[in-house]
Amino acid sequence: MKIVITGGAGFIGSSLVRALTEQPQVTRLRVVDNLSTGDKANLAGLDVDFFEGDVQDAALLDQAFRGADAVVHLAALPSVPRSLRDPLASHHANATGTLQVLEAARRAEGPHVIAASSSSVYGANPHLPKHEELVSAPMSPYAVTKLTTEAYLSAYHHSFDLPVLPFRFFNVYGPGQRADHAYAAVIPKWISAALAGQPVTIHGDGTQTRDFTYVGTVCHVLTDALVRRVADPCPVNLAFGTRTSLLDLVQEIETATGLRVQREHVPGRIGDVPHSQAESTRLRALFPTVAPVALQEGVPAAVDWFRRRLTMSQL
Ligand code: NAD
Repeated sequence: MKIVITGGAGFIGSSLVRALTEQPQVTRLRVVDNLSTGDKANLAGLDVDFFEGDVQDAALLDQAFRGADAVVHLAALPSVPRSLRDPLASHHANATGTLQVLEAARRAEGPHVIAASSSSVYGANPHLPKHEELVSAPMSPYAVTKLTTEAYLSAYHHSFDLPVLPFRFFNVYGPGQRADHAYAAVIPKWISAALAGQPVTIHGDGTQTRDFTYVGTVCHVLTDALVRRVADPCPVNLAFGTRTSLLDLVQEIETATGLRVQREHVPGRIGDVPHSQAESTRLRALFPTVAPVALQEGVPAAVDWFRRRLTMSQL
């Protein structure tokens, strides 16, 4: 199998590249990435063809997609706050970028296209757990770009018979996820703060909940979807229905680091959803062999990664 991963130099993308190099069916891996939030160093030592550039560059996509059996489209400007600051940049990268990827897939005679959407599409809909048939109520420009991603995949399936599979990721975390940028996710940010002896900043009272999903579990599902060529135009939640409050997360980090962590509360953020928990029936039916890695195992793995990086930077 020849597989293209857009956004393959990012956190989830580079983890997926690593997982796929261990699959005997996978003969060639290509990455398309403009390195806007990713880093080529994430792919160091891995056997991939790297196409540096933007997913809005049709000619570059044509080169990368030639002869491909599948495309995993992960390239996007992630982060809700980033999209509040610059909605158009998120729209161009995420929505127009997806349309370009689908057009290139159509020109390349229809590889299987798997794409990353997000739990943020549920937004202001208060129903819990979040099941895929709920009405979307985006609360940020980022969420709109992800809803657009799903809608385009569905349209290309129905209009052009393209085999597609949109996944809604829910707060993915794990080794390789960095904290050293303005839009870092909560788990790497807090682990990094804890190891530096600094307080963690909690937006709001900390009772908001998330369905944290270990990156290894996400890669396991994506790999299974690729190998078995699972296609469905309807979105599938990629999370297993856990519900952890941010206050409980701080405790997990304290347990994993063995350190006492100070909490600093600041006002809540615009665009943040109060609660997020996936209904996982569809996921479990489509991927019955995937067993999720629990937070109690995943957080220590992320802490280990941070500690190794700290040790290496001190050498
Ligand atoms: P990431 O920022 O680490 O990876 C995104 C990658 O895409 C980066 O390598 C970046 O350089 C690349 N990229 C961005 N814009 C591009 C463009 N226009 N052309 C080419 N490459 C471009 O983020 P991630 O956490 O690995 O996220 C991967 C995907 O999963 C994204 O689509 C994101 O929206 C989605 N997602 C992630 C989470 C999460 O919790 N991490 C949750 C929901 C959805």
